[in-house]
Formats: sequence, structure tokens, C-alpha cells
Amino acid sequence: MKQQNPRERKRQEKLLEQYEKRRPSIADRFEEAQKRDFNRKPATAKQATDAPRGRTNGNARINNKTSKGKSADAQKTPLTASQRKKNELAVSTRRGEMVHHQRRLTSDVNAQATQHIAGIPVNRSKFNGLGGVQITSAQAKNTKLNPDAVRIIALGGLGELGIGKNMTVIEYKDEAVIIDMGTLFANEDYPGINYMIPDIDYLEKNIKKVKAVLFTHAHLDHIGASRHLLPKFGPLTPIYATEFTIGMIKKQVAELNDEPDLNYNAVDPLKHEQIKVSENLSVEFIHCLHSIPGSTHIVVRTPNGAILVSGDWRFETKPLGIPADYDRLLEIQRTEGFTLMLNEATNNDSPGSHPHSEHDVGDNLGVVMDHYASGRIIVSCFSSQLGRIELILNEAAKRKRKVAFAGFSMINNVEVALRARAIKIPKDTIMKMEDIVKLPDEKVTIVCTGSQGEMNAVLNRMVTGAHKYIKVKASDTIVFSSNPIPGNEPRVVGTVDGLLREGAQVIRNGKSHLHNLGPLHLSGHAYYEDHVKFVTDLKPLNYMPYHGQFFMLEHSAEMAHDVCGIPKDRIIVCDDGDIVELLPNKTIRRAGRIAVGSSLYDDNDRSVHEAVVKDRVHIAREGIFIVVLTLSKKNGHLLKTPDIISRAFVYLDNSEELVGKIRHYLRVKTDKVKGEGDLKALKDEIKDDITHILFDATGHTPIVIPVINKV
Ligand SMILES: [Zn+2]
Ligand SMILES: [Zn+2]
Repeated sequence: MKQQNPRERKRQEKLLEQYEKRRPSIADRFEEAQKRDFNRKPATAKQATDAPRGRTNGNARINNKTSKGKSADAQKTPLTASQRKKNELAVSTRRGEMVHHQRRLTSDVNAQATQHIAGIPVNRSKFNGLGGVQITSAQAKNTKLNPDAVRIIALGGLGELGIGKNMTVIEYKDEAVIIDMGTLFANEDYPGINYMIPDIDYLEKNIKKVKAVLFTHAHLDHIGASRHLLPKFGPLTPIYATEFTIGMIKKQVAELNDEPDLNYNAVDPLKHEQIKVSENLSVEFIHCLHSIPGSTHIVVRTPNGAILVSGDWRFETKPLGIPADYDRLLEIQRTEGFTLMLNEATNNDSPGSHPHSEHDVGDNLGVVMDHYASGRIIVSCFSSQLGRIELILNEAAKRKRKVAFAGFSMINNVEVALRARAIKIPKDTIMKMEDIVKLPDEKVTIVCTGSQGEMNAVLNRMVTGAHKYIKVKASDTIVFSSNPIPGNEPRVVGTVDGLLREGAQVIRNGKSHLHNLGPLHLSGHAYYEDHVKFVTDLKPLNYMPYHGQFFMLEHSAEMAHDVCGIPKDRIIVCDDGDIVELLPNKTIRRAGRIAVGSSLYDDNDRSVHEAVVKDRVHIAREGIFIVVLTLSKKNGHLLKTPDIISRAFVYLDNSEELVGKIRHYLRVKTDKVKGEGDLKALKDEIKDDITHILFDATGHTPIVIPVINKV
């Protein structure tokens, strides 16, 4: 241990002393919470119902009766009719300004709603396979492929907007295997979109090539797209994965209305079976450790050597179940060697190795149950963390607590895991939600979803009181046995605030020192030093980071080069759609691109077109404005005052002047045209003029829709 200087030691001792004084014992705090009267009606309940309600229909149609179109100015000074007409139609902003605004808006909307479209991504990384030179579109299209090369093409998972959509094709001549079919959860830039899946146009054109579909493990970023994509391959294409993973895929596929006939084959990775999937390709699954049961690496043997596809993995010295079959990897390394390694890059930039094990997490969850022994314990974690769930069950059983699961995916996953014998659970510990709530609080443990602050997940519903059985109360202790996924932090904090406002104790991984506790979560992905060991031990001839955003890929490549000593021209950092060739001489090269992209889905699993997302973004920013004109067929005159509908733009009741101006414009315009000429041109003119008037008044250009009826 490093010698500390005495002054520093003194300072720390003093700090500790102060800390001890300040910190009321956890038990005391808990007792205090117990003393409170939980049944008292909250004072705010009545206030809430008495509070003035917003007018719900304020932006709906208003018709001529409610507005006479009088402007404030017009009321002050009487004007002549012609003056008024001139004034009312005047706009002070030039049309050019509006056009400029519209252009900028369109470009912003496009930039936001089309981030998932790859095109030709910028990649001037020194590891880009082209010496750091950006690929041109001619090169991307016309690079001559080597007929004897093995090609590796990611249809998703490389340089994405987050972690997800993993899908990799490995092909040789007329044979191909697919590894994983994942989803990527959409961020808030995509209103109404839940997730994206890889666009598989390329495969659909080459469907006969596909000899097998392989899955490394059952996380949604690897199997989430299976229900949309597997049916395209039909019953002849074999699907290989571990038993648990297949169980999870079947659950996914069962959500389809027409459940397709699929060719599932469960593999036992401990058997080291080499499955020949075609004349030239064979595959082997190797058991590894990750945060879900049934995780594997996959070795694809090709005429140009063995390719290791890492899947997601972590090292564990004290794992919950069977230790990783690292010896098998070392054996293949010794006997055949890996020509190419695709290594997941997700946590490559986290320093060191995992400082603790799942057992420590389990122990700490047990300590929580001891500290807060007389109240309910609600543990929130990822529903796929079945090892963690097993630990919670064991810790609960030791303390004679019962456990109920809340959340559809949680219950589903536990079922699949039990069926695949992926977890063992203590007897008589699990109860149904409706039964557990009848027990005294000190017996109740609930494991639920919602650790990411999802609005509709169980935890939030328990806060708002929308949950059928549980309303969070001050004697409850809620444990976040998870970390927020980057981007979810604000929502998680929102949930935590909600829980604390109810007076409950909240213990979060990463903040557990506040409660004198150790870690409550373990990441499923290896850290930097683990990667160094992995790559150094397995000595791949070529290295390609995958499963990560661009910065992760780049850092992984730097590590392989700087620390593991792999030469620069044998490392490649790619994007989705880039073709990587593994040549017979065991070198790699970039060889053009295929078209890739994403399909967007809403939370009902329905496909959504990009154009819809663009409209949503546009409307969210600027709103929508509809005018309905009823013209006489005979003379083209307005038969009644036009109806005006404004949504997400201006509140019509507060915009009399603007509405008057628009109505006046429409009257003048229709009088002038007299119903002659073509209707489309009239609509276009009206649309353009109204956009101008609205822009002049508000600085915004909503979507303007003129509707013209002729009667
Ligand atoms: Zn995973
Ligand atoms: Zn993953």
C-alpha cells in the first residue's frame, strides 16, 4: 500500500469523523419513516381536482360566429375600406426570408429524422481500410470483388446511433450465414418510433445464399428483429442458438399474428460441435459469460481461416453458473489460429476490469434486505438479468421473504429461463402479485422492470398509483440494480424523484455509498484490460471491432494496435454496409459498399415510414394550419366564412387578428380568381400566401393545408 503523508491522513480522518457525526444510522432513519402516518389523505388531492382545467378544445375549429376578424388597430382608428384592405393584407417580411426559414427547417427536419440512413458515412479513421482516405461513391459502387474472398458485411451494429441493431453477414461465394438480428431503440429525435431494425434488402436479393441464421445470445439488440426478419427465410433455413436463446426467440416470434414455421436447432456449446452449414462454411458455438444465460461466441470456419465473432462477453473469476469455456478458445487459437476476430467494442473504453462479481451484487442486495428488514423491498433491474433475478430469489429465501415479479417481460423471461433450465430457484419463494400484497410488508420482495425510467413500466406506475396492486409508500425501499443506459439518465432521475417524493428510500447502483452499501450492478460487457487480455491471448491475424458506436470501434482499434501490437493494415473500423474481404492470403481489405438502412417501428410493432416521422418532427416544431373553403360552383365566390383549424401552432382563441387577416385574404383571393383556372394552382397559391402571412405574424411556417370544396 502506498505510504500516505501524515497531513493527508489527518485530513481524511477528520473528514471521516465529520461524516460519521452527520450520518444518522440507517436503522434510525428507517424507524422514522415507519412512524409516519401513511394513511393520512394527501392534502393535495382536492386541490388537484379543483385546479382550473386547461381548455381542452381551444385549438379546434372556430367558425365565423366567434371571430369577426377585427384587428386591434382597426378598433382604435377608423380606416377607409381600401386602407383597411391594404393594411390587412400587408406583410412586412420578405418572401425570401420565409423561403430561407423553410429551407433551414427542412434541412433540420431531414437531419433529425434521417439519422438512421447510412448513405456513405464519413470515415477517415486511420483504420478505415483505405489508409484514412474517405471512400468515394464511385469506389463504393464499383470496387471489384475478389471471387475467392470471404466477405464480412454488417447490416447493423456498426457506428449506430446507440448500441443495437446487430446483424452481420459472413459469406463465401454462394454461401452465407447471418449472425444476430437485433433492434435499436430509437431516441427522442424519432417521435412515435420505438425501435429500428436492419434493412435486409441485400439479403432478400440473395436469399438463396443464406445457409443458416445464428444467434450469439438473447438480448434484444441481437434477437429483437427476429420476429420481423426470420419469417422471410422460411422453414428450410436452419436457426442455431443455445436452448435459452431459442426460447426467447420463440417468445418474440409468438407475438406475430401468423406464427411461421421455423427450423430451430438448439446447440449445446459445451459439446464443441462443428456444425457444417454449407459446403464451405461450418460454425461452432463457444460458451461465454455475459449478463444473460446462454451467451456464446461463434467461430465461423471458412476456406480463408477461422473467424471469431465475439458476441457480448465479460470475464468473471467467480461466475454464477458454468465458467466461460475460455480453454476452448485457447485450444482453437493453438491448433488453427483465428484469421479474423470481430470483437464487441461496447465497454472497451471503461478502464481496468470489473472490480466485483455478481456474487457481490447478490450479497449487497441481501444487506439491503437486512437494513430495511421491516418494509417491502422493490428491486428494479433489466428483465433479461436472469442471474441477478436468481440471486435476489436466493437472498429473499434466506430471509423468508417471498418474491413476486412485475412486468410482462420479466415474467416471460423467468418462464423461458426455467424451461431452459438456465436458472435454479429456491422452492416456495415465488408468489403471484395478487397474493404477495396480502402478506405483511416484511415478507414482500418485488422484482420489476422500469429501471430505465420508462414512463409506462411498472416502477413508474407504482409511483403514480396506476399499478393494480402496488402503490409506493414511505416504508418501501426501492433498489435500482442497474445503470441508466446513456441517454436515459433524465428519465431515471425523474422516476427517482417520484419515489423520493413518496417518502420511500431509493438505493441506486453508483450512488449506493449514500447508504453505506457496495455495488448493486455489474456491467455485462468486458472492460479495457479484459479486452487487452482477450486479444493478446487469442492472437487474431486481423481485427475488426463491432457492436458499438463509432467512438467505441475506434478506441477498440486503437487498443488492438497500440497495446496488442496488431499492425494497422490488419485492423479495420467500418460502418454498416461496408464490405470487408478476408482474402485467401489471410489479409483483409475494404471492398466497396452495399446499400443498408433501417426500418422504423412504433410500439405496436407497426412499420412507420420516414416521411411520417419527418411530418411529426415538422409539426412538433411548427404546427399545422388547415383552411377549409366552400366555393360556389357557379361563380367561385366563398359561400361561407372559411373554417380554420390550427394544431400545435397558435391557440386560435388568442389569435383573432391573425385569423381575421387569413379570412380577409381568402375572401379577396377567391373574389379575384372567381373559380377560374385550375384548382391545384389555386391551392398552391393559397398555401404559399398563407404560409407567408403566418410567417410574418409568428416567425413560424407550419404545414399549411388548404381544402377547397365546390358546391
Ligand atoms: Zn448482450
Ligand atoms: Zn449486445
